[in-house]
Amino acid sequence: MINIRSSEEIELIRGSARLVAQSLDLAAELVRPGVTTGELDREIEAFIRSHGGTPEFKGFHGYPATICASVDEEVVHGIPGKRVLEGGSIVGIDIGVRKNGYVGDGARTFIVGEASEEALSLVGTTLDALMAGLEVVREGVHLSDVSNAIQQVAESKGYSVVRALAGHGVGTDLHEPPEVPNYGPRGFGPILKVGMVLAIEPMINAGGLGVKTLEDGWTVVTTDNRLSAHFEHTVAVGSEGADILTVA
Ligand code: MG
Repeated sequence: MINIRSSEEIELIRGSARLVAQSLDLAAELVRPGVTTGELDREIEAFIRSHGGTPEFKGFHGYPATICASVDEEVVHGIPGKRVLEGGSIVGIDIGVRKNGYVGDGARTFIVGEASEEALSLVGTTLDALMAGLEVVREGVHLSDVSNAIQQVAESKGYSVVRALAGHGVGTDLHEPPEVPNYGPRGFGPILKVGMVLAIEPMINAGGLGVKTLEDGWTVVTTDNRLSAHFEHTVAVGSEGADILTVA
């Protein structure tokens, strides 16, 4: 069953999602050559806690950190630590925050220093794919219409959509129904209703769609070792369109 949230609940989710967006703004300031992903994690955890939130990923199925920091061929769920960010890399930062009992979830991929044309194009296209999906979100459309819009943008540039992972509903839990795939034909899946809240998060690979999980049990990487990018917004379904909640 897909939860329908009241406008009061959506305002509570907006409060958490705003703190996610502010944390991602902080990440944008902190990301530079020479910083470790562990330093980013510590600063962002302190920021979230000082603003009345708690890191929702920490402890989720045993996940050990506040953020996920996924560098270059890492798709998602990279565990922050001693890894030093180098100029020319890209790093996806994913953050979940709980505040007043409700959860927001968001991610952006940042360029470290000066990036290659390939990296810039992949990151730009992944954001474009997310926004194309959000353009479709409104009461009465099929969920897979959103998925299809994302896939069209990614594949029009010759990139691959990761199929092994998907977006999700979000609210009082980090992961709620429905699953939100980033590919598929139009006209399938549940019909969106006002008050549904979705975390939509395309993961787009420069090469093939294959991914695997490393021995740490978390880090998902591309099997061909090529770059991957990830953007995510938490949005509420409205009668006229998507209400993007992960804005600062
Ligand atoms: Mg998510």
